Parts: sequence; C-alpha cells; structure tokens
Amino acid sequence: DAQKTKFEYQSDVTRLRKIVINSLYSHRDVWLRELISNSNDALEKFRLTSLTKKGFGNDDPLNITIRAVEDEDGKGGKIIITDTGIGMNKEELAANLGTLAKSGTTEFLNRAESADTTVGTGNLIGAFGVGFYSSFLVADRVYVASRPPRSKENPEPEQWVFSSTADESSFEVYPDPRGATLGQGTEITLVMKPDALDYLSTTKLTGLIDKHSAFSSTFPVYLFTQRTEEVPVEEDELPTETESVPEPEKEDRTIESYDDDEVLIEDVPIEEEKKPQVPEVPKTKTVTIDEWVHANSQPPIWTRDPKDVTEEEYLDFYRATFKDYRKPIGWHQFAGDAAGTSFKGIIFLPEKIPDSHWQQTGPLEQKDIRLMVKHVFITSEFGSDRLPKWASWVQVIIDADDLPLNVSRETLQSSKFVKQMRSIILRHLLILLNKLATEDAEKWALVTKNYGMIFKFGIAEDSKNRDRLLNLVRFESTQRKDITLDQYAENKRKGQTQIFYMADAGKTAEQIKRSIFVEKLEARGYEVLLFTEPLDEVLANTLRTHKKMPFQDVAKAGLKFGDEDNEGEDSKEAQKKLGEKFKPLIEWLKEETKDVVRDVVISNRLVTSACAIVADEIGYTANLEKLMNAGHN
Ligand code: ADP
Ligand code: MG
Repeated sequence: DAQKTKFEYQSDVTRLRKIVINSLYSHRDVWLRELISNSNDALEKFRLTSLTKKGFGNDDPLNITIRAVEDEDGKGGKIIITDTGIGMNKEELAANLGTLAKSGTTEFLNRAESADTTVGTGNLIGAFGVGFYSSFLVADRVYVASRPPRSKENPEPEQWVFSSTADESSFEVYPDPRGATLGQGTEITLVMKPDALDYLSTTKLTGLIDKHSAFSSTFPVYLFTQRTEEVPVEEDELPTETESVPEPEKEDRTIESYDDDEVLIEDVPIEEEKKPQVPEVPKTKTVTIDEWVHANSQPPIWTRDPKDVTEEEYLDFYRATFKDYRKPIGWHQFAGDAAGTSFKGIIFLPEKIPDSHWQQTGPLEQKDIRLMVKHVFITSEFGSDRLPKWASWVQVIIDADDLPLNVSRETLQSSKFVKQMRSIILRHLLILLNKLATEDAEKWALVTKNYGMIFKFGIAEDSKNRDRLLNLVRFESTQRKDITLDQYAENKRKGQTQIFYMADAGKTAEQIKRSIFVEKLEARGYEVLLFTEPLDEVLANTLRTHKKMPFQDVAKAGLKFGDEDNEGEDSKEAQKKLGEKFKPLIEWLKEETKDVVRDVVISNRLVTSACAIVADEIGYTANLEKLMNAGHN
C-alpha cells in the first residue's frame, strides 16, 4: 500500500516495550487503567482547547466507551476503547506512540534492565507508569485509529491508523481504509492474546474498572454489555386466535335422518375428553439486551463522607489523579465557602518533594493543583495567585460549585474565588501537617526528614505564615532531638537571654556536639541547638530573635552567659589576674598572627581545649562563608 509508512521505534521504546512485555505479566491488569487515563487526558485537552478556540470540534458528548467483541469461532476477540477527545493526526500518531518523551526514561530503563531486585521491576514500572505500551501486555496487535477535532483551519480532518504488533520493532501509519468513522477522537482496538481472552468478559472488565480505574477518568466511561432478560410478552405479540389456538378439531359424522330420507352430514363437536390439549400461551420470553453501562458512576471522592471512603480508594484516586505511584504521607479532605461559592476538596502530602521542584527556574508549574468546577477539571494555571514556592509541590483537588463553567482561563484567574484559593490551600496544608505532627509520630518523622528543609526555606520566603511554619520546624540540640524553637525557649536556664546555636553544615549533630565551642555551655547546663544544614543558619539570621531571645552563634564573639553574675567578684578578680599574668603571651600571639586574626583574648569558654579560633561577632562564620562561595560558583 503506497500510503502505508513503516517506522522503526525509537530505541528507548523498543527497550521499554521489552521490559513491559517480559516482566510485567503479573501486573498486566494495568493496561486498562493506562488506556482510560490516556483517553481522559485527551478529553481534558479537547475541553480546555474548545473553551477558547471557536469552531473547534463537534458537539459529540465527551466520553469513553469500551466494547469487547468475541470472534465468531470463540477462539479470539477484540477490545475497542473509544474516546471523543483531542485525537491525533498522522504525525502525532507516529511521534506520540513511537517515541518516549518522559523525563528519567533512560535512568529508568537502565535500572529495570539490570533487574534491580531490591526494587522489583513491578514497583519500578509502577513508579514510572508505562502508558500506552501496557496494551501489548494483553494484545498481540494494536490498532489506533484517530481523528483530530475539526477546526477552522482543518474543517474535514482525516482519520489515520497506527498499527503495531507486540513483537516487531516497527510500526505502521496509514489512512484508515474505512474512511472517517470517528466524529473526533481516538479508537484503540486491541486484538487480544490467546491467554488474555478472559478480559473479554464484561464482568471481568466491570470488576477491573471498579478496582483500578474508577478514578482514571472524570468523564463518563461506558461499557458495552449484553445481558439476557425474561421480558413479558406484549399484548400485540400474543399469537392471534386463528394462528395458534387450534380450532377444536371436528369430526364429520353422518347423522341419519329419517325425516325426509335425506342424509344430513353435520359437523358435531368431539366430546370433551377427546379434544387435544391447547398449548399454554407464554407470558414472558428471553431477549438479549444491548446496553451501555455507566461504569464509573460513583460520585467524586471529595464529595463523599470521609467515613465512607476506604484507604484503598484514596490511594487509587491519588495514583490516578496525580500519576504519582508512591504512597502519599497523608491527606485531608475539606469543605467551605469563599467568595460566594461553596467548595470541596482533598489535599495530599506526597511522599517527597519531586526533584524537579528544585530545578525549576521559570514560572512555577502547578500541575498538581487541580481546580474543578462542578466536578469538571478547569485549570492548573493560576497566574500570580500561585502558591509560594515552599508549598508549590502540594497535590490538591479543589472543586467549586458556583463558578461559571465556560469562562476563559484568563477570566477565571481574576475571579474572586481563585484569588482566595491560595490561602485556602495553604490553610488546609498547614492543618494536614499539624495533624500529622500531633497524631502520627512515624509519619511525622518522615515529614521532618523530607520536608524539614522546605519549611525552613518557607520561613524566609513567606513572612505571612512564618509563625505557623516555625511550629513545623524541628531541631536537634545538645539535650534533645526534634524540638521546636518554642520548646527550646521554654527550657532556658535562669538568666539566659540568648538562643545558643552551633552551626556546621554537613556535619552530623553528634560531631557538632563534640565541638569545643559547645563544651563550656554544656558544662554549665545550657542547651545548644546543633545546626546541621546551611539553611539553619540562614533561618537564625532571618529570624534574629525568637521569644525576644536573640540567636547567638556560640562560635562567635558576643556570647553572654546568664549566670555571669553568680560568678561574683572572685571570678572577675581572677579574670583580671589572668590577664596580667598572660599579657606577654597574648602580645606575642597577636604579633605572630596579626595577618590572620583580628584579636587574641583570654577566654572563659573553654573547658578541656587549650584554645579556639572564633569568628567575629559581625563577620560570617566559616560555615556561612562556605555557603556563600558555593552560591557564587
Ligand atoms: P503519557 O500518557 O504519560 O504521556 P502514554 O504512553 O500513556 O504516556 O501516551 C503517550 C502519548 O500518546 C500521550 O502523551 C498522548 O500524546 C498520546 N495519546 C495516547 N493515548 C491517546 C488518546 N486516547 N488520545 C489522544 N492522544 C493519546
Ligand atoms: Mg498515559
């Protein structure tokens, strides 16, 4: 066929397809949820584009239909999944289904191929998501027929087909020989493998949608089913008297008449017991009914009573919505009213901040904040109303009841509700975090490990939420682990006026604790915060004070002991004497080191060490200098 173009798969695709087909057998159910979620994405793309592009698409209802067709000989069958979404033209068919554009693909493939048994390929695949290629888990051959929506530029779009088998390293793209059978959208035909024919059963498909795919689409998914039913036979279907109720048979009998010598032949009824049985008229009959069953008709999870939603349902919903295959640390369902509309939503705390969060340089992408109106996805773009960077990784669905559905995103962005959304989300994020902090020690430890840094960052970034964030930040001290600044302040010793800290980024708390600067304070029973991250010191510099106590680096000059007064005159006298006694040594040291140190003094800070080099009160510490240099390189 002259129109057929044969393409080689990009090498990464060949590798991925092999991994999927060879090692995902036990997870093969995933194909359905992947294909439904692709259709859902395509429908969303169409809906969003049609809001702003006039004359785009037809008025077909936006939905997904699934139909299983068994071959007549019962030895095979097809499953056909159709959506009325954005579709693909011939170039898109080849590019989207023949190449992998996902970030992290190569790293993923290397790990999967080296059979990283500690993770298990199944988990890896789950974490990566295999998308369209999962169809080859159950199909020997896959046809994707697709037709983009009509538009002003292209009023009669063509319908093209992508076709590939499970084991070839190439695929074909050609015009659909059937013509344009689709109004718009994509039809995927899976020619099922002989060992995957059980998927043809509608009971099996219904079960799969319930179990794994109920949340994969916010658009309706209809499943073609055929069921047999006993139906009453209608009045006009009843057989007419002449047809089926046989006339009682009559016997010709000759009755002899003696009246006028004529022989009358007369029909006379047969006696009762000789009549044949009249068959019972059937009142019902068995018919086969074709039906499109709405397979994902559950109300959205955020509208349900949290008491009735199982953990499994939340996790399935989470995975389907945010395409994040790791388990979130926690979630929190909320509802309220703002700017004249009521809203409902769920906020999730992902297991960790995505790596991309730190790499982002341009405007923040907030694809995980999904604004819905009356259960329909509207946008993830909020212009200047986006969240502060410290919180921009949050995953949240927020569904407003009374916003206009068909406004452009620009109009929506300036709506009062969207302006308030930022503070609604932040409030509920903080509620969720505080809940974890007080109710679940194990989860909270994970939060501190994975988010401690970003909270500190937030304190510098978001002055409005500074106090609330401070409550979430934990430090280690010479006496305790995981304390808040409030807890530190409560534990101050009599007369203590400063918050003591020792900073040495990159060292462990244990190492910092052994520092000579800390020892004197420890010996006197003071608690010293041990700063192990560069941001800790930035935080101290940002805050300057907490509960009216200034932060004091114990390695810097300016250290004040609250108990100096208690040392009495004796001690001051002793200090003076020491000064006189060691004057020659001090003078000599000053002269010898004048190029590198500013001053040499006799210290009462040290207990076991002979001397220490300290930073000037107003200068940078060695630690901060490291940080500054790193920033400039
Ligand atoms: P992902 O969904 O993560 O992008 P997939 O392998 O699932 O990866 O799909 C690859 C691409 O193919 C999609 O990004 C999309 O562009 C295209 N695609 C797949 N299914 C459809 C569909 N039903 N309608 C339109 N485009 C689709
Ligand atoms: Mg996909």
